[in-house]
Amino acid sequence: DDGILYMATNAAFPPYEYKEGDNFAGIDVEIATEIAKKLGMELQIADVEFGSIIGGVSTGKYDIGMAGMTVTEERKQSVNFSNTYATGIQVIIVKDGSSITSLDDIFVFNDEGDPTALKNTDIKVGVQQDTTGDIYSSDAIKKWGFNDLADDGSTTTDRVVRFKTGAEAVAALKSGKVDCVIIDNEPAKSFVAANEGIHILAGDNEYAVEDYAICVDKGNTELLDKINKALDELKADGTIDGIINKYIPKDGGAQ
Ligand code: GLN
Repeated sequence: DDGILYMATNAAFPPYEYKEGDNFAGIDVEIATEIAKKLGMELQIADVEFGSIIGGVSTGKYDIGMAGMTVTEERKQSVNFSNTYATGIQVIIVKDGSSITSLDDIFVFNDEGDPTALKNTDIKVGVQQDTTGDIYSSDAIKKWGFNDLADDGSTTTDRVVRFKTGAEAVAALKSGKVDCVIIDNEPAKSFVAANEGIHILAGDNEYAVEDYAICVDKGNTELLDKINKALDELKADGTIDGIINKYIPKDGGAQ
């Protein structure tokens, strides 16, 4: 009620959120700024670990969480999500010259084309802790489930290595501590552009398409409704497209 919209993010996820000197920049930062304007509020951003955003929002420490955050069934148990405003795809970064040349070198696929296990190799996978790349890789119940599910039935727990940020995962890839990094496509493109000697694996990643949305405390449906209304208006008048196109040029070689 103090007229401030408190937003939690993890500002290490370009082009959605990152630091430019002392300032926050990126798609989410600009969309949140527009939403706050519509709500007649002032936006205040806290830069926290990705994994603490949902807890911070559900306990009322922050009003919203916005961090290229994928809507998942499990997260929906803790927070409400706004309408979606962007799409992400999980992709895989490898070193140039890597023996990994296709997704088939990493995953076992089922008949529907979904990865169901990690191939029985000694490939180590780097992920950003608590993100969907981590959840899919680490939890056998959820999606890809690399744990305990190598194609020979062996345990693969130690083959997923978790890092605080995508940048740290990429540094580990460059120094050979992991063999690939699973991360959202746009940050992947930023990291590849900023680092020599790594590239995104080509291939059909349509199994890993995700919706990004803003999370709000379950008790605060009034704010959720206002955010959805603001998002609808910002979509209808082209503001959101304009912001996204500014950071992700249409000819920018989308996956
Ligand atoms: N989209 C991914 C997720 O929600 C990654 C988000 C992030 O790292 N900021 O888990």
